[in-house]
Amino acid sequence: MTTFLSGGTGTPKLLAGADSVFDSAETTVVANTGDDVELGGLLVCPDVDTVLFEQGDLLDRERWWGIADDTTETHDELRALADAADLDAGPRYLPDEAQTAGRDLADWRRFSGVGEFMEIGDRDRAVHLTRTSLLDEGHSLTEVTRTLAGALDAPVDVVPMSDDPVASIVRTDAQSDYADEMHFQEFWVAHRADPAVADVDFRGADAADPSPAALDAIAAGPVVIGPSNPVTSIGPMVAIDALREALRDATVVAVSPFVEDEVFSGPAAKLMDAVGYDPSTRGVAAAYPFADAFVLDEADGTDLDRPVVRTDTEMADERDAECVAEAVADALELVGRAPEPTGEVA
Ligand code: GDP
Repeated sequence: MTTFLSGGTGTPKLLAGADSVFDSAETTVVANTGDDVELGGLLVCPDVDTVLFEQGDLLDRERWWGIADDTTETHDELRALADAADLDAGPRYLPDEAQTAGRDLADWRRFSGVGEFMEIGDRDRAVHLTRTSLLDEGHSLTEVTRTLAGALDAPVDVVPMSDDPVASIVRTDAQSDYADEMHFQEFWVAHRADPAVADVDFRGADAADPSPAALDAIAAGPVVIGPSNPVTSIGPMVAIDALREALRDATVVAVSPFVEDEVFSGPAAKLMDAVGYDPSTRGVAAAYPFADAFVLDEADGTDLDRPVVRTDTEMADERDAECVAEAVADALELVGRAPEPTGEVA
């Protein structure tokens, strides 16, 4: 059994080529849920869904979110209605008292659907509607995620990091013109990572438990942390005590999302800087004290205190991802946890 910890871009890219090295039937993907929001009453789980859509072969691989060739008729109409009604398209948080009313899983991240500040495709929306309805029928997020994975024919097991609410909250610099704090999706989707960041908080993490499925998977075999954002994709997992302790006991290989201090995409460098890590591969290693080995880019000369395997870590397609997956297997071998052969003839 191999477990991948995933955000919504770097690790899903790796997963696209991982099945040549890691048997899908023996693979669990634990997805971050700190980015989730409730929007117009529907629970949207961006990282879970990118993994589900990638594995179900539906993903829009240009954007690394949403369903390829999805239409946006409902979204467009929501924008048009808000516009016609002279309603600001937001993000529009529900009132404070509503932030902890209703289903617990959406605590501290409830947005009105007016103007729909995140673009939700029409087919994508059907996933959120089904997920939210199954949650309201009494199922856990783990059960619902597995149900959706089955419906989309995902070959790997996909589970959320927790069945409890954990909300990634960005606290802005006192000098900035923005609100003092905002959910990560407001920071990223509405403000394109513009606000100066003072810190990032994982609200709810102290009281949250890991999903039992995530804990079981981590205990059952080596763990691979793909090149995901250490702060907002892996940070929410590490902020849950029992999950962090499980990682300490596991054999862990991490792929850097940096080449030295150059990030491939996204706000990882800014966020790492804000929370006190060097925005670089060195900072990634500091953020993962439980990692036993690393996969770095061949152009990354960072000298780390743990074993390193180097390869070209830029993943433009499945073949690139296979090479990174092979480097991950080599790194696991270096620390005594070579994966089982997949049975495929090379
Ligand atoms: P998010 O949920 O969309 O933020 O996605 P993740 O946290 O899973 O991934 C974001 C990280 O992926 C960024 O820090 C990027 O540097 C990294 N990334 C994106 N593409 C690549 C790639 O081709 N290779 C590597 N090594 N990292 C990548």
